[in-house]
Amino acid sequence: MSTSSVSQLHVWLKDAHAMEEQAEQMLTAQAKRLEHYPKLKERINQHIEETKSQADRLEGCLKSMDESPSTMKDVSGKFAAIGQAIGGSMASDEVVKGGIASYAFEHFEIANYRALIAAADELGENQIREVCKGILEEEVNMAKWLEDNLDDITKAFLSRAESEALEGKR
Ligand code: MG
Ligand code: FE
Repeated sequence: MSTSSVSQLHVWLKDAHAMEEQAEQMLTAQAKRLEHYPKLKERINQHIEETKSQADRLEGCLKSMDESPSTMKDVSGKFAAIGQAIGGSMASDEVVKGGIASYAFEHFEIANYRALIAAADELGENQIREVCKGILEEEVNMAKWLEDNLDDITKAFLSRAESEALEGKR
């Protein structure tokens, strides 16, 4: 039996909600370990606030649809693998690996919202479409920031590693 389009949109919104909860967890884990990278830390903290608000906005969309949100928990943990790549690494180069993983994750979010926007548009769910467009813009901005800053983050990491190595030799 095929799922109705409205139910499908509802499922995708729930998936996006789980994605944002996962994003909040991994961004929070990442921000904790960035004391030497204040600019990156500040941008991640800003995106944590955006991410929390995105989850709230998606909840609003889910509530506006005439379906029970009772299975909300079913999909949490779905993105755990990506989460570990971003927030779970304790490697010495975690700032670079985290930057790379975040850059990939933002594009994963972008793709999800593009699909949601198309689905909402197709169903005439204009309010949901506009909410998703607003969220999409925040993801695009975060992806762009990472794109613009990954070079500097990588170079800063290397020069820190270099001076730590020199200090070790003295
Ligand atoms: Mg997000
Ligand atoms: Fe994001």
